[in-house]
Amino acid sequence: MKISRNKVAVIGAGLSGCEASYQLLKRGFAVDLYEMRPLKSTPAHKTGDFAELVCSNSLKSDVADTSSGLLKTELKMLDSLLLKCAYETRVEAGGALAVDRKLFSESVRKNLEKYERFNLITEEVERIPAAPVIVATGPLTGEKLFDDIKSRTSDRLFFFDAVAPIVDASSVDPEKSFESGRYGKGDGYINCPMNKEEYDAFYNALVNGETVPLKDFEGKEVFEGCMPVEVMAKRGYDTMRFGMLKPVGLTDPKTGRRPYAVLQLRKETQDGSAYNLVGFQTNLKFSEQKRIFSMIPALNHAEFLRYGVMHRNSYLYSPDCLTRTFRLKGDDAVYFGGQITGVEGYVESIMSGLLAAIHLSRELDGLPELVPPKTTMCGALSRYITLHNKNFQPMNSNFGILPAVEGRDKNERRTNYVARAVSDMENYVNALNCDEELSR
Ligand SMILES: Cc1cc2nc3c(=O)[nH]c(=O)nc-3n(C[C@H](O)[C@H](O)[C@H](O)COP(=O)(O)OP(=O)(O)OC[C@H]3O[C@@H](n4cnc5c(N)ncnc54)[C@H](O)[C@@H]3O)c2cc1C
Repeated sequence: MKISRNKVAVIGAGLSGCEASYQLLKRGFAVDLYEMRPLKSTPAHKTGDFAELVCSNSLKSDVADTSSGLLKTELKMLDSLLLKCAYETRVEAGGALAVDRKLFSESVRKNLEKYERFNLITEEVERIPAAPVIVATGPLTGEKLFDDIKSRTSDRLFFFDAVAPIVDASSVDPEKSFESGRYGKGDGYINCPMNKEEYDAFYNALVNGETVPLKDFEGKEVFEGCMPVEVMAKRGYDTMRFGMLKPVGLTDPKTGRRPYAVLQLRKETQDGSAYNLVGFQTNLKFSEQKRIFSMIPALNHAEFLRYGVMHRNSYLYSPDCLTRTFRLKGDDAVYFGGQITGVEGYVESIMSGLLAAIHLSRELDGLPELVPPKTTMCGALSRYITLHNKNFQPMNSNFGILPAVEGRDKNERRTNYVARAVSDMENYVNALNCDEELSR
């Protein structure tokens, strides 16, 4: 079937859908942007505004040598409209990029409405429309569309996220941990042992830890089959020692004995730069996760690349459903953008909408696929969510997903990550511009 170059449907005027619309408009496409609000809202949105920030007004760190800062630098290089609007409407927030949410939304809308080819359609979309289309309906996708996407992806669409924290491997204390599979079988695990005293202290802190209050729409049923570690702990002193902290089949080479309890860390990235805390999906506040999980001796100085979350979140099992350009496998010109692709966070969602639009526009212009290099945060996140991954869970930006760099210490490594990413992104942007100029 021949797909028209002229008009693209974008579903969802959230962070990713607005960014995708801008990227298409500036490349000469007409855009029909479908948004159901204010006609019908989601359980978290409160307005009918474009790009509404559903919770915090912070887009996280703006410090250049942080992972979130790097993602912003790359998005600026890719001419992100939403970042431009964020800087224009920023409020004082130290090293973070926080915005006046009302002004931010207004600025996004104004910038899209400048284009004659922009058309807003206030309607709930119930089925993925005919291609070309970008679906950017976010973590709270309307139910009918959710069902349609689910059936188009062989049920590889989930509605709930239960994520365990991830730590930087180099911050796990090798003196207080050991590598081995249970009963000496398999590898890929780092074991973090605790003696009785250490377990007691950890247990007491955990059962008293402060959790994030559930939203009204996050009923108890979403936790079924995916129990947070703190809820397990509250079931009894020994419950974790027979569950996620069971020590059977493990011998600590330092003592020659079986530890009292053991937390296992499992590789999160192929190069072993990041590990997740097995079975530790949690609803504790981030500060509590840091305080309490760092009580485990091997994690005393752990750097948390991502904290655990448990929340309503529609997301695709993207490694099975999406190509590396966020195109639905087997379908021409049907793309996904935003949190529904398995990225996590405001800026990550902007990134994914932006790239989906670039990839779709290239397909419609007959240009070959061109993905950002894996050394950039955009490229690493794209790869993370679309490459085969046995334990896929949504992911935010962090240095652990980038290929390792040399450096004497953490600060030098961060500087090197950023320098390499910026230089590689520059080449990527040049290649995009060059292709687009030639195809005009
Ligand atoms: C409660 C909650 C709090 C969050 N807090 C934060 C936070 O503080 N910081 C952070 O970094 N990330 C946070 N996130 C995660 C994520 O970054 C945001 O959800 C972000 O808005 C995702 O961007 P998006 O464009 O993918 O989706 P959205 O911004 O949600 O946009 C999707 C749009 O699609 C519309 N839509 C949905 N279904 C249909 C349909 N069938 N037809 C037409 N329109 C439809 C929606 O109304 C919405 O406008 C939070 C998520 C949730 C659910």
